[in-house]
Amino acid sequence: MPLYDYRCANGHTFEARHGFNDPAPACPECGEAHVQRVITSAPGVMQGINASAGKNASKADLQSKWAEETPKLREKLVNKLGEDTVNKYAPTLNTKYD
Ligand SMILES: [Zn+2]
Repeated sequence: MPLYDYRCANGHTFEARHGFNDPAPACPECGEAHVQRVITSAPGVMQGINASAGKNASKADLQSKWAEETPKLREKLVNKLGEDTVNKYAPTLNTKYD
């Protein structure tokens, strides 16, 4: 099960492990049921890009980072899996970050 980060309406942050479709848990500190999920990790390629571009990176920085990193990642995958497989299973690598 995935681990999620939450912040309650009173500012407490906590982690909870539960299924994707399960409702958000109440805050363990104060019992507040109004909690928001905090996105601390993005899946796949965006994680590396965000990490290397820094937290306060502008959209333009992210775009140039994407343009820089995506062809490299794609090349690695093509070497490993072949052109056809990459086109079939990772079509987003052929598109531009926008
Ligand atoms: Zn709380």
